[in-house]
Amino acid sequence: MHTPYRGRFAPSPTGDLHLGSLLSAVASYLQARRHNGQWLIRIEDIDPPREIHGSAAGIVKDLQTLGLQADEAVSYQSNNTAAYRQAVTHLLVSAKAFRCSCSRKQLKNAPVYPGNCRKLQLDACAVRLKVATRQLTVIDLLQTTREYALAENIGDFIIWRADDLPAYQLAVVVDDAAMGITEVVRGCDLQDSTPRQLYLQECLGLPQPDYLHIPLLTDKNGRKLSKRDNDDPLNRLQPQAAIRLALQLLGQQPPLEISDLDKLWDWAIAHWQVRNIPLQFPTSSIRGLGC
Ligand SMILES: [Zn+2]
Repeated sequence: MHTPYRGRFAPSPTGDLHLGSLLSAVASYLQARRHNGQWLIRIEDIDPPREIHGSAAGIVKDLQTLGLQADEAVSYQSNNTAAYRQAVTHLLVSAKAFRCSCSRKQLKNAPVYPGNCRKLQLDACAVRLKVATRQLTVIDLLQTTREYALAENIGDFIIWRADDLPAYQLAVVVDDAAMGITEVVRGCDLQDSTPRQLYLQECLGLPQPDYLHIPLLTDKNGRKLSKRDNDDPLNRLQPQAAIRLALQLLGQQPPLEISDLDKLWDWAIAHWQVRNIPLQFPTSSIRGLGC
């Protein structure tokens, strides 16, 4: 256990807060509060083509309304491009990364990057991290331990994009270190990012946080809920009922008699148990909950 505890919720501004993202926010918040730690909000706005105007402000406002109070000002990845560039330069200079000019079409049938540009000195914009041929073990505070063969399962991966934007993996790792994050609590959709991030942290000589991946809320077809659609309970529920629903989905059982939002949070912080989080959320059955 790292001390002092610092956790974060890091949404992309690609739509409104929805029940799926709220679960990550609540789980990360309660882990931080339970450990007398700090909880931060970071907006991951480094992919302008995917952004929806106004959604960052909307997410921050919704979190406040729901009683999730951050301990520091909200940070925005778009302000940190210089730090990401510095990290990439460091990796290139130390030969831990290389420039890659392969097109998507060229790589279409390759399960992992085949190493085409590894030994070339190209002028291309995109940069890949060179992965070593070895195993990497990911320990998770909730999920079972996973083993990855870096070269076979992952391959040299992109850390700077061909359109001259930092790649997600690089930005996350640089910011988690800069913000002193000691534990990352997020959805299982990012579980396969974790070995990449652990490896990047090694290459950059950065401290490694602990990881906890909560299950994903899916629709009736088993797809991840990625936006707030018409059926999302957050459209209908008052803050207290929305947090109650999130707590119940996370396996916590707040007493029915608590009807006040602040008192619900007090109860949740005092009684939060990671081991009660289910390994899977119910699927379509949550649709329309709280109507
Ligand atoms: Zn290449």
